[in-house]
Amino acid sequence: MGTVYAIANQKGGVGKTTTAVNVAACIAEAGYETLLIDIDPQANATVGLGVPKDSAPNVYDVLMGASGAEEALVATEIERLALLPAHPDLAGANMELPREAGSERRLQEALAGIRDRFAFIILDCPPSLGPLTVNALVAADRVIVPVQTEYFALEGLAGLLDTLALVQRELNPRLTVAGMLLTMHDARTRLARAAEEDVRKHFPALVFDTVIPRNVRIAESPSFGRPVIHHDPHSAGAGAYFALAQEVAARG
Ligand code: ADP
Ligand code: MG
Repeated sequence: MGTVYAIANQKGGVGKTTTAVNVAACIAEAGYETLLIDIDPQANATVGLGVPKDSAPNVYDVLMGASGAEEALVATEIERLALLPAHPDLAGANMELPREAGSERRLQEALAGIRDRFAFIILDCPPSLGPLTVNALVAADRVIVPVQTEYFALEGLAGLLDTLALVQRELNPRLTVAGMLLTMHDARTRLARAAEEDVRKHFPALVFDTVIPRNVRIAESPSFGRPVIHHDPHSAGAGAYFALAQEVAARG
């Protein structure tokens, strides 16, 4: 059965989508059948893999019970990487889901039929702790928390860990934190180095050794509809995401 990773942080712009797309691509490249599920109404992961954001059926249809997960899968240009695309309509699910009892298990239930086909399933969460993220956390085995090394790096992390503990207690006892991932790191600045030190000091053992550098190849690759390992395999960004994928796989 595939291991399910949610990439979550309620802060926007910390590198969730970039991490979801690039870790998924690296794992597929390493030979594993991999599925990326985009559950952010912004559909950035979908578009970043060259798939239009009005694909149907999509993950909204799956959450609403209008489609099975199987029918909504699309192939990507990357071998062994499938996508369950997002749609802007997902924004409505934030209103619709809470009206129905048990709706926090929709994604988990939808995945039951396809989990066997994938070694890894990566969930790209929206920048909130609303119903869509809760669905992801209930379906997940592990969480990766991207953290940008900036002045407010620690802000919100304690709250996020509290939420993860609550979901674990109430809804999903399997859930564990795989690690915090330092992203968009600019090792030349004292500020970024201080932020890294702070996060490592506050959460020893929880922070991945691999740090993702700020890298223009990473930033421009979504506009080409592909992950950085295909956009520029020799870039520092591609190397970092390969190293991270190895570290994630090694942590099990
Ligand atoms: P989130 O999904 O958490 O909102 P994104 O992954 O979309 O964050 O990243 C926010 C922005 O930062 C995007 O424009 C993305 O291309 C850019 N970005 C992410 N990681 C890097 C990086 N390592 N180097 C440079 N730019 C990055
Ligand atoms: Mg995103």
